[in-house]
Amino acid sequence: MPIATVNPATGETLETFEPLGHGGLELRLARAEAAYREYRTVGFEFRSELLRRAAGVFETEQEQLARTVTTEMGKPLAQARAEAAKCAKALRWYADHGAALIADELPREEDVADAGAAAALVRYRPLGAVLAVMPWNFPLWQVIRFAAPALMAGNVCLLKHASNVPRTALALEELFWRAGAPEGCFQTLLIESAAVEGVLRDRRVAAVTLTGSEGAGRSVAAVAGDALKKSVLELGGSDPFVVMPSADLQAAVHTAVRARTQNNGQSCIAAKRFIVHDDVYPWFAAAFAQGMRSLRVGDPFDPDTEIGPLATRQGRDDLVSLVTDALAHGATAETAGLHADGSSGQSAAGWYYPPTVLTGITPEMRIHHEEAFGPVATLYRVNSLDEALELANDSPFGLSSNVWTNDTAERDRCIRDLEAGGVFFNGMTASHPALPFGGVKRSGYGRELAGHGIREFCNATTVWVG
Ligand code: NDP
Repeated sequence: MPIATVNPATGETLETFEPLGHGGLELRLARAEAAYREYRTVGFEFRSELLRRAAGVFETEQEQLARTVTTEMGKPLAQARAEAAKCAKALRWYADHGAALIADELPREEDVADAGAAAALVRYRPLGAVLAVMPWNFPLWQVIRFAAPALMAGNVCLLKHASNVPRTALALEELFWRAGAPEGCFQTLLIESAAVEGVLRDRRVAAVTLTGSEGAGRSVAAVAGDALKKSVLELGGSDPFVVMPSADLQAAVHTAVRARTQNNGQSCIAAKRFIVHDDVYPWFAAAFAQGMRSLRVGDPFDPDTEIGPLATRQGRDDLVSLVTDALAHGATAETAGLHADGSSGQSAAGWYYPPTVLTGITPEMRIHHEEAFGPVATLYRVNSLDEALELANDSPFGLSSNVWTNDTAERDRCIRDLEAGGVFFNGMTASHPALPFGGVKRSGYGRELAGHGIREFCNATTVWVG
């Protein structure tokens, strides 16, 4: 993909960027190496202060950052503002708690003696320069979710952002610079995806984290594996949203609409497959379709807009293709189906796609197994929790899951049996700095956030004193 800002609401190319040449890349890698040599030795207090100042810049520049994000990827402006605010919160959270999360660990005295030591401890030391390959859907948050713990642990960051959000990528570099980050601690590399392999193989890069598609994850993990470098992958998801008869149905349907459509439906942790018990299906299906139908689609800068355009033409075309395939195999569109004008939407200005609910889904349809990255929900009817769990697990993905039930025995079953990195009851999946985030199966491996996230890019060093 060329590196460019293309307004998804109009399709207009606003700015194009030359990728870094060999010299520019070399300069930045050298800077990262030099920066790490110093930064690894500074104390937690210095790092906490840096994170706090970065949080402050997120707050004072919130409006400008939000406008850049909305211009480049089309999410409603209010959601872009909220994303910037969430970044400030995570930076402060790690500033406050990061040091404690990676404080020295002392084994039990009897174990120290049993290991033949007078003293022993585990110290979490940084790894070095970590390459972050990041996507456009939460172009501020995905980066900060990685950078806040990485910087707190003493690592330095190299950001390869998605090619359609270059202004956001440059704004992040500038933000850390203005927060007083030592030169080289946080750098944006304007490079195409083909250049990632060379950077990852460079001896000055210690590890990689990637958020994005399965394909990108597979390529980067293969290189990381070959180069024997640590990797964390946060890939796609097709999270189930199970509704059982004991649920508060009004709340469930309200949350279902939001969970499927926030961020214009382009979120890895969006609920995508709605699995509803027979007893409550007719009411839920009607209310859900009505809720999806009533959403206002339009200009993401208009404060009344609830759903803006999809971020890229390719993304819109992929979604049209998934829905076309489902309809061709017998699915029914309970709402718009293809595009607001009844066409496939190929000719409309901007990459808009109407909120859509599909029923009659069968395993022959691609959408049963693939991630629908846009406001398209699939709705299933089941007779029991057993059937719901079987269907929920019938997916190559395992990122998170949502279950609506007030029955504690049903909750226990779900916690035991759902193949996912999270189980959220009576609510929708959302990330929080204090809770680990990540998936199983083809949703990736490793965890972000909380103590788990900060330790991913640490060298847990055993110290033994005889
Ligand atoms: P990609 O996975 O292609 O892009 C994510 C990041 O990976 C970008 O920085 C991209 O760079 C980079 N990248 C892509 N391919 C490679 C590669 N072979 N080697 C190294 N880096 C690579 O996402 P898309 O934008 O193409 O979206 C496609 C699908 O991915 C979506 O429909 C959705 O299913 C999933 N996705 C999931 C996300 C999540 O949050 N889990 C986020 C975004 C997408 P560049 O932009 O230069 O290609």
